[in-house]
Amino acid sequence: MNIPKTNLKRVVIVGGGFAGLELAKRLKGAPYQVVLLDKNNYHTFQPLLYQVATAGLEPDSIAHPLRKIFRGRKQFFFRLAEVKKVQVDQKQVQTNIGNIQYDHLVIATGSGTNFFGNQEIEYYAMSMKNITEALDIRSLLLQHFESALLTDDLQERQALMNVLIVGGGPTGVELAGAIAELRKHVLPRDYPDLDIRQMHIHLIEAAPRVLSGMSEQASEAAQGFLEKMGVQVWLDTAVSSFDGKRAVAGDHEFLSKTMIWAAGVKGSPIPGIPENAVLKNGRIAVNAFNQVEGQEDIFVLGDLAQMASEGQPKGHPMLAQVAMQQGKNLSKNLRNLAQGNSLIPFEYDDLGSMATVGRNKAVVDLPRYKFQGFFAWFVWMGVHVLQLIGFRNKLLVATNWAYNYFNYARDIRLIIRPFSRPSKPDNL
Ligand SMILES: Cc1cc2nc3c(=O)[nH]c(=O)nc-3n(C[C@H](O)[C@H](O)[C@H](O)COP(=O)(O)OP(=O)(O)OC[C@H]3O[C@@H](n4cnc5c(N)ncnc54)[C@H](O)[C@@H]3O)c2cc1C
Repeated sequence: MNIPKTNLKRVVIVGGGFAGLELAKRLKGAPYQVVLLDKNNYHTFQPLLYQVATAGLEPDSIAHPLRKIFRGRKQFFFRLAEVKKVQVDQKQVQTNIGNIQYDHLVIATGSGTNFFGNQEIEYYAMSMKNITEALDIRSLLLQHFESALLTDDLQERQALMNVLIVGGGPTGVELAGAIAELRKHVLPRDYPDLDIRQMHIHLIEAAPRVLSGMSEQASEAAQGFLEKMGVQVWLDTAVSSFDGKRAVAGDHEFLSKTMIWAAGVKGSPIPGIPENAVLKNGRIAVNAFNQVEGQEDIFVLGDLAQMASEGQPKGHPMLAQVAMQQGKNLSKNLRNLAQGNSLIPFEYDDLGSMATVGRNKAVVDLPRYKFQGFFAWFVWMGVHVLQLIGFRNKLLVATNWAYNYFNYARDIRLIIRPFSRPSKPDNL
């Protein structure tokens, strides 16, 4: 790979998500040559993907070009590259644009959707981990409504209009709320020929409550909000099959052609990482300095890293805050390494969590306070706008939200690139 040679040691960072980006930004002025590799030339703000999927925001308002962030930075190089393999013995990574040597390697490739081995569900259900997938959901929802207008078969029409969301974590709850708002404010006006009352939104969760990572107070409030908005919430109910039209969950059968799977995540490791470090869930076991055991020059950050500790035997939650804080800690440790100082163990500072259900409705758990409703929604909006990267994105999102709020609108109802499933694998 064409990167200038220097006397500086080289840090190669794979992934410009929350962890990799934070680290790369904080290495400004450090005595290293920094090379950032990502298969996309932009950073994605995943917490707002659901708004892209439900026609509330344009995709470019939650994506930011990586090159722009590092404009003018000395000894920094970005390359648009998909990393294929790590060759630990040669201190080298293989990518689709060539190989690159490293002194320190940082892997922050995030996570993917976990279908727990169910290939049928994986084929028919939609997942939402990146902008392409969010746009696919937006297209599919609208395509199904266009098709519903064309059929006389009542069952078929019902299946086209119904939506199943599997997983009652923040993503499932936020999606269910946003689709319920589409049903209330937008779809009846867009499709006056359809009886929108026939559209059912089911949120199916295997655990006894939604938002199980938050307080019971937050779970109860979120469920209450959803039910008021007409979402049917199914708890203690695990989906076992989906053939593209019919889903089975416990004793229930659901008729729907749209299933959005938000029920599991797994690490996205890169081949070549020593096998004993790769856990069953695809995450990589790391020590308190984010190092892969036995590989002092390889660090893993963010969703991919599983750092077991006394209070957290399964590692920290897969959250943007954890990823950013690990990036920050590693930036200090790489400076320490350069100066021959000892490393600082990572400690997660839990700043709280939040989820929104819809207009004027959100739940917030802070370390000292928990609150729900309008104020929580206001806080949720403020925090998300502030966390977005770049003034343009902050402005776009804030103005879009203000417009949507006053007009009850979700105007980006465009089927720009129609969704079609790839051909069915032989084993299904
Ligand atoms: C829909 C959704 C909603 C969420 N909502 C919240 C929320 O409200 N609050 C919260 O705290 N967290 C939320 N999260 C979780 C949060 O987004 C993740 O914890 C966070 O993105 C993890 O950061 P990361 O840097 O580990 O990975 P990511 O941010 O996923 O970044 C990984 C990067 O690696 C790149 N990459 C992957 N493989 C390769 C490869 N082989 N070669 C080159 N590049 C590669 C990707 O293009 C990407 O840029 C949400 C996640 C999703 C999917």
